[in-house]
Amino acid sequence: MSTELQPKSATSKGPAEWFTGDVYFNAYYAGTEPSRTRLNLVRFTPGAHTAWHRHAVGQTLHVTEGYGYVQSRGEELIELRPGDTVHTPAGEWHWHGASADDFMCHLALWEAPGADSDEPETVWGELLTPEEYPQRGW
Ligand code: MN
Repeated sequence: MSTELQPKSATSKGPAEWFTGDVYFNAYYAGTEPSRTRLNLVRFTPGAHTAWHRHAVGQTLHVTEGYGYVQSRGEELIELRPGDTVHTPAGEWHWHGASADDFMCHLALWEAPGADSDEPETVWGELLTPEEYPQRGW
């Protein structure tokens, strides 16, 4: 094995059962065992955001552009701006996305559970209600 340029990743549209609004992502890296690393770039259009979800091994987001939010269930809303890095622990229900009046792009880094686990990487729940998403903008 040697250092290898990875194949160009196509941009895909986020499915409507996981995202409200228009979201596009690129899967840049998905390691093979023993690596379980996953790296995506996610681009949210204004007002677009994830449904409630949780990651078996947690997730780190790094904002590359724009303004948005991340919020864990029952916790304070965290405003995100370019350069911010946030970590959500394993199993914690949360959502993330753009503010109502700005785009937001973030890198998303997470890991698949080990081969001995039958847990999915990500469990998706309900879409946010209009009351749960801050309509006022950033
Ligand atoms: Mn997440």
